Amino acid sequence: MKVYISADMEGVTGVTHSQDVIPGRYQYERFRGLLTADVNAAIEGAAQAGATEFLVNEAHDGMRNILLEGLDPRAQIIVGQRKPLSMMQGFEGSDVVFFVGYHARAGTEGILSHTFDSPTVVTNVELNGEPCSEARMNATLAGLRGIPIGLVTGDDLTCKEAESLYRRVKTAEVKTAVDRYTARCLAPEAAHGRIREAAQRAVEGVGSLTPYTPGAPYSFTVEFATASTAASVLYFPGLERVDDRRVSWTHEDYTVAFKMFVGVMRLARSDPDYG
Ligand SMILES: [Zn+2]
Repeated sequence: MKVYISADMEGVTGVTHSQDVIPGRYQYERFRGLLTADVNAAIEGAAQAGATEFLVNEAHDGMRNILLEGLDPRAQIIVGQRKPLSMMQGFEGSDVVFFVGYHARAGTEGILSHTFDSPTVVTNVELNGEPCSEARMNATLAGLRGIPIGLVTGDDLTCKEAESLYRRVKTAEVKTAVDRYTARCLAPEAAHGRIREAAQRAVEGVGSLTPYTPGAPYSFTVEFATASTAASVLYFPGLERVDDRRVSWTHEDYTVAFKMFVGVMRLARSDPDYG
């Protein structure tokens, strides 16, 4: 049994502020440890249920956040940002996907809610006309290759969305959002117990999970905070500018549409206003 873990940071135990997850800022080193511990708890739980292979993919910011020296030795990890499938690089061939430390989509009151970039850059992403979280677009990539989402960890909004979309997914709610920057948090020991138990049940119940498979064609619409950023991404064939701040594209093959999204996000970062 191969478990693939996409590990973001905003949904990690105790994280409530952007300062907690930006490299170099006060508290960041502390929260790297808590991120690593959340990932290890998921590995431990899955291993207790008999999983034997673990591939972790760094999925936050520069994608160099987990403390390698603290990682469970049963796991391997993809470190670094240059990867065409981004938060999902290397998922192919796994039996089940875990989302650890995930967060709610842009525009909601989840802790540090956003979709792929800061809400000062991207204000909304829609997939086939519905607001779409990072989790949902990543779950679609896995689902269309027949791989289900087994575990999601993060705040209450993140877990609630997962339960509404992926049948029989197990969730570990490590904090309850009061506001985008305020949460009622579990202590690490309690949070890790919750993650371990949910991961164990996810692997035990893997046969009953259903891959998430929305139908083709796949239409992405990205709304940027400024018209200037929308103008900075108009280089892809098939990409249309819907209005001042929105661009859209459609493809029959979800992987093609998804890679285009990753490319659009990289170009958006070339905007002079970025940062
Ligand atoms: Zn992140």
